Amino acid sequence: MQALASDHQAGWYVFDVSTRGVVSFGSAPARPRAAAPPSHCTCRIGLWPSRLIPSGAMSPVDRYYVTTAIAYANNKPGLHTLYEVIGADVIARWHRMKGDETRFLTGTDEHSVNIAQKAAELGESTRAFVDEKVALFRAAEAALLISPDRFIRTSDPDHIRSAQEMVRRAYANGDIYLGKYEGWYCPAEGFKAGSDVIETPEGTRCPNHPTVALEWLSEQNWFFRLSAYQERLEKHFAEHPDFAQPDYRRNEMLGFIRGGLEDFSVSRSGATWGIPFPIMPDGSSSQRADGTWDPAAGTIYVWYDALINYVTGAGFPDDQAAFAKWWPADLHIVGKDIARFHTIYWPAMLWSAGMDAPRHVWIHGFLLAQGERMSKSLGNFLDPLDVVATLGADGARYVTLREVAFDRDTDVSWDSFTRRYNADLANDFGNLLNRSISMANRYFGGVRPSVGPDAGLASAWTETLAGYQDRLERCLLSDALCTLWEFVGAANRLVEAEQPWTLAKAMKAGDAGAETRLKAVLGDLVEACRLIALAAAPFIPAAASRAFAQLGYEYPYGADGNGGPALLDELHWGAHAGEAGQLATPEPLFPRLEAESTTPAEG
Ligand SMILES: [Zn+2]
Repeated sequence: MQALASDHQAGWYVFDVSTRGVVSFGSAPARPRAAAPPSHCTCRIGLWPSRLIPSGAMSPVDRYYVTTAIAYANNKPGLHTLYEVIGADVIARWHRMKGDETRFLTGTDEHSVNIAQKAAELGESTRAFVDEKVALFRAAEAALLISPDRFIRTSDPDHIRSAQEMVRRAYANGDIYLGKYEGWYCPAEGFKAGSDVIETPEGTRCPNHPTVALEWLSEQNWFFRLSAYQERLEKHFAEHPDFAQPDYRRNEMLGFIRGGLEDFSVSRSGATWGIPFPIMPDGSSSQRADGTWDPAAGTIYVWYDALINYVTGAGFPDDQAAFAKWWPADLHIVGKDIARFHTIYWPAMLWSAGMDAPRHVWIHGFLLAQGERMSKSLGNFLDPLDVVATLGADGARYVTLREVAFDRDTDVSWDSFTRRYNADLANDFGNLLNRSISMANRYFGGVRPSVGPDAGLASAWTETLAGYQDRLERCLLSDALCTLWEFVGAANRLVEAEQPWTLAKAMKAGDAGAETRLKAVLGDLVEACRLIALAAAPFIPAAASRAFAQLGYEYPYGADGNGGPALLDELHWGAHAGEAGQLATPEPLFPRLEAESTTPAEG
C-alpha cells in the first residue's frame, strides 16, 4: 500500500516527466549480485574465540568499521544525541583492544535548511555558525573520551566530491530522473509525507519538530528510483536476517518494504546551502569552466548527502585502496527515527553505485524524560558536560549505557543516573577494588598476592566473560554491563564469605593455614579486579587505566584502546599469574555522590 511506502506519500508528489523529457526512464539495469559472503555475522558469534571468526569475504584483514549517524550541527549536543556515539565508541574500543584494525566514524550533518535559516536569523554566515556548533560537539565528545578515527563534516571537500560522484553513478545507472515534488518540507528534517504531519493550532507541523513551521514545496527535483530495488531489498533482508537489528525493528522495516517502495527526491532546487547537484536537467555536468557550479542545478537533498558520509569516511572517492579495505561498513548505529533511511534507502543507493550494503545496522531507541522524548526543543535534556562534571567521563559513559537499553526507549532521570553511579561504581566495583588493595597492603605490605587455588571466581569468570562478550558484540550494551557486574557481586560476596580480616587475625596468631588461605583469597580478589577493569575498559577507559596503576600493572593500551596485546588473551583468568608486582595506595576510583545535592546545573 502506497500510503505506507515512504516519507513522500502517494499523492504528495507528481512526476512531471513528460515536459522535461531529459532522462532515460528504463528501469534500473539488474546488476550481478556480489558473491555472497559466508553467512556468518560478527554480531552473533560472541562465544567463539576471536581467531576462529572467519574474516569477511570483502576484507582480507580483521578490520572493523563502525559508524554513528551524523547529527545536525544546529545546537550544542544533548546526551540523547551523544548516547549512540558513546555506544559506538565502546564498540570501537572493544575491537581495537581485541586487535582488529578498527575505524570509527562520527561527525556532523551540516546542510539542513534550518541551519542556514538559524544562521541568517543570527546574522552570521552559515559557515561560521556551523563551525561554532561543530566545536561544541567536539568539546562534548572530548569530555566523554570519544575516540573517532575521523570526525567527518558533510562540508568536508572530500565528502562533497563523494556525494557528487554517488549522484553521477546513480544517474549513469538510470536510477535518477527528473520529476516534480509537491508536498511538505520540514526545515529541520526534510520531505514529509502527508501521513507524517499533524495539524496544530499553529498550523501544519511535523511531530518531531512541533515548533518548526513546515514549508509547502512545489518544485522540480531529481528522484531516485527506489521502487526498482524493492525485490532486491526483500531478498537482502531474507538472506541477511541480522542486517537490520534488533529483530522487532527489522520486522518493521521489512513490513515497510513489503508495503511498496516509492521513489524519493534527491535534490532541492533554489536552496543555496548544500552540495551542488552535479548534473544539469539535460544530463550535462553542472560544473562551469571556472570550476564553480551552476546554481540552476540546485543542491543534493540533505539526506542523500548525509548518508553518503559513510562511504566518504571509508575513502571514497579519492582513495580506492582505503575504500576496498574499509567498505562495506560492519556496523551503522542509528536511532529508530532514521532506520528507514539506513536500512532501505541507503542499501539501494549503494547498489545503484555498484557498492555493497553495510553488514549490519543497529537501531536504538530514544532517551525519555518522564515518558517524553528528550529533545533540545522541549528543553528536557541532559547536557553531557554537566553529566561529566558530576559523574566524571567514565561515570557518564557507564551510567548512560547501563541505564539506557541499547535496543529500545528508556526513561532516564538525574536520580536514576546518580543512583546507578553510586550503586555500581562507587559501591560495587569501586569498593571492591579499594578494599582488595587495602587489605593486601595491610596484611602483606603491598606485595601483589598471586592468583591462588580457585576460590570459585575462576570458573565464574569464564562464564561471565562469555556472556559479556556475546552481549557486547550483539550491541546489547546494558546487558553486557549487567553480566559483568554480576561478577563484581560474586567477588564482593567472596569477601563476605571468607572474611579476610578474620583470616588475618589467625595468621598473626601463627596459623600457617590461615596465611595460605588469606593470600589465595586476596590473590583472587586482585585478579578479579584486574579482569573487571580490563573487560570494562571500553566503557570506562580512564578508570580502567587508573585501576591498573593501583593494582601495580602497566596499562598496555593507548588512550583510544589501540596498541596493546590481544584483549581476549589478557582476559584469561591468571593471564599474569606469577608476575611480581607492588600494589599502590588505593584511591577511590569513583567518589561517592550525595544524591540530593547533585542535581546538575541544567542546560
Ligand atoms: Zn521535522
